[in-house]
Amino acid sequence: MGRITIDPSCRLCRREGMKLMLKGVRCETAKCPIEKKQKNLAPGMHGWKKGRGSDYGVRFREKQKVKRYYGLGERQFMIYVSRAEKTKGNTGEVLLTLLERRLDNVVYKVNFAASRKAARQLIAHGHIYINGKKLDIPDFTVGIGDKITVKPAEKSKKRIKEQLATNPNFSAQPWLQLDANTPAATVLALPTRQDVQLPIEDQLVIEFCSR
Ligand code: SF4
Repeated sequence: MGRITIDPSCRLCRREGMKLMLKGVRCETAKCPIEKKQKNLAPGMHGWKKGRGSDYGVRFREKQKVKRYYGLGERQFMIYVSRAEKTKGNTGEVLLTLLERRLDNVVYKVNFAASRKAARQLIAHGHIYINGKKLDIPDFTVGIGDKITVKPAEKSKKRIKEQLATNPNFSAQPWLQLDANTPAATVLALPTRQDVQLPIEDQLVIEFCSR
């Protein structure tokens, strides 16, 4: 996982000048440094105002935003780029929708976990089942009709229900259906580019990766 595990999460957001939503509940509060208008101040002892940068720099930063948003290392990210290039359609859009279908992202998007990092931990510890079977692979790609449930143990269900209770008005993405009582989630459709709430220029990411 490289630097992702070493760098404090908020530094990554400040570096990219945008909210990457890496720290769960804190991201929604006024404690978020980006909310405190520090988004144009890069991390470091003195910080500096970030300019637009060179063409290379702009493309590099767009790539870094995607990688950090989904919590991927460079090698893992390039595997997704290669998969997207081999798939029919706009490569940038295919890349983002593939990443959006990662199990850790889905678990986060249905609010079973406060962040993607917490979702990865939940999955790795065996609390998540897919179509009735335990699956401890956070980068599993979900498909239409997949049902995500929780390990049938009181401790696991309690943990997820407590997380769901943190936001009772939560409603899942249009491509996901959440049943908060069970709790369970179903993949109704494949996500589109509009479902990926990441304001980046995906074409620039592909241009950087195709150099
Ligand atoms: Fe930190 Fe979350 Fe704000 Fe990013 S969005 S700066 S991780 S609090």
